[in-house]
Amino acid sequence: MESSNGDHIQCKVCGVALSCAYSLKRHMQLHGDSTYECDFPECGKTFKCKKSLQRHTRSHTGGPKV
Ligand SMILES: [Zn+2]
Ligand SMILES: [Zn+2]
Repeated sequence: MESSNGDHIQCKVCGVALSCAYSLKRHMQLHGDSTYECDFPECGKTFKCKKSLQRHTRSHTGGPKV
């Protein structure tokens, strides 16, 4: 089950323990699911396709700039 009791977070894929959510995010990239991650570190959303990420990123940057 989810065990985020402060100290360690476990990777659901390989079971390794990471020290924080940010480490887990970095680690998940090793598993290479070809997801696109939001450039804003405090956001950290991931998307299956680049277009979705681009659209999402605009919500950070304040609106469409076409
Ligand atoms: Zn892993
Ligand atoms: Zn974002």
